[in-house]
Amino acid sequence: MCAVDQHGDGHPLASRRPHAAGTVVEVSGVAFGGLEIPLIAGPCAIEDRAMYLEAARCARDCGASVLRGGLFKPRSSPHRFQGLGLEGMDALLEAKRLTGLPICAEVIDPALIDELQGAVDLFQVGTRNAQNPVLLRALGRARTPVLLKRGFGCTVEEWLGAAEFVLESGNPDVILCERGIRTFETATRFTLDISAVPVAKELTHLPVVVDPSHAAGDRRWVGALARAGIAAGADGLLIEVHPCPERSVTDAAQALTPAQFAGLTDQLRRVADAMSRVLR
Ligand code: PEP
Ligand code: MN
Repeated sequence: MCAVDQHGDGHPLASRRPHAAGTVVEVSGVAFGGLEIPLIAGPCAIEDRAMYLEAARCARDCGASVLRGGLFKPRSSPHRFQGLGLEGMDALLEAKRLTGLPICAEVIDPALIDELQGAVDLFQVGTRNAQNPVLLRALGRARTPVLLKRGFGCTVEEWLGAAEFVLESGNPDVILCERGIRTFETATRFTLDISAVPVAKELTHLPVVVDPSHAAGDRRWVGALARAGIAAGADGLLIEVHPCPERSVTDAAQALTPAQFAGLTDQLRRVADAMSRVLR
C-alpha cells in the first residue's frame, strides 16, 4: 500500500474540477453527456435469434439509440439461464447490421474482452462486478467505452472509485449508471437512488445514466423512474424492452412492451424539453 492511500481524493481522474464542463463520451457516434439524452434499450438477454431480431427492430423503431445485447448474464443462481455466451454472437451481429445501432453488452470475464471488442460498442459492467478490480483494469486497457453500473451496495464514493480503476488504466470513456441500491424497502426490486444523479454529477465530470428497469423490477414503476431520472439530470436511460415480455426468460416482470416503450418515449421527450435537453 502506498502512502497516498491515506490522503485526499481517491478518485482524482473521475473528480470534477471546479467549474469544468462535463465529459462527453461518444459511443459509435452517440454522445452521452451533451445536450442530447440517448436511450439504451432492448431485452435483458439474447434468448434466441428470432426474438432478438424482433426486439432489436422494435427498440430502434421506438427510439433507442443504443441496443442492449446481453450475451453473458450474471445470475443469482447457477441453475438459471446464464446467457447464450458467444453462441449468441451471430444474432448480435445480425441485429447490429439490421438496425445500424451500436451495441451495449455486459462483459464478466477479462479474457473475453478482445473477442467482444469488435462487435460491442459499449461494455457494461454489471452491479455484481462493479468493484472487480481485475475486470475494471482490463477494461481500462480496452479501446471501447464502458458503462459502469453502480454496485447495489456501493456508496457514490465507492462507485467513483470503481470508475477510477478504468480511467487510471488508460480508458477515458466511462459512463456511470445508477441502477438502484439495496435498502430495507422491498416494494421495488432495488431502490433507485435518484439523489445519486445530482450528487454524482456534482462530484464527477463523467456522464450519468439511469436504469429504471433493474431498480423497479416491475414494469409498472419503470415509466415514473425514467421520467424522474431525466428530471434529476440524467445523461441517458437504460430501459429493458421485450417484444413479448411474458415470454422473457430473464427479468420478465420489468420489461416494457414495445407499445409501452413508445408511449414512454413521448413523455420523456417532454420531460427532456422541460430540462432544456433533447431526447435523442
Ligand atoms: C442487466 O443490465 O441486465 C443487469 C443484469 O443489470 P444489473 O447488473 O444492474 O443487475
Ligand atoms: Mn436485466
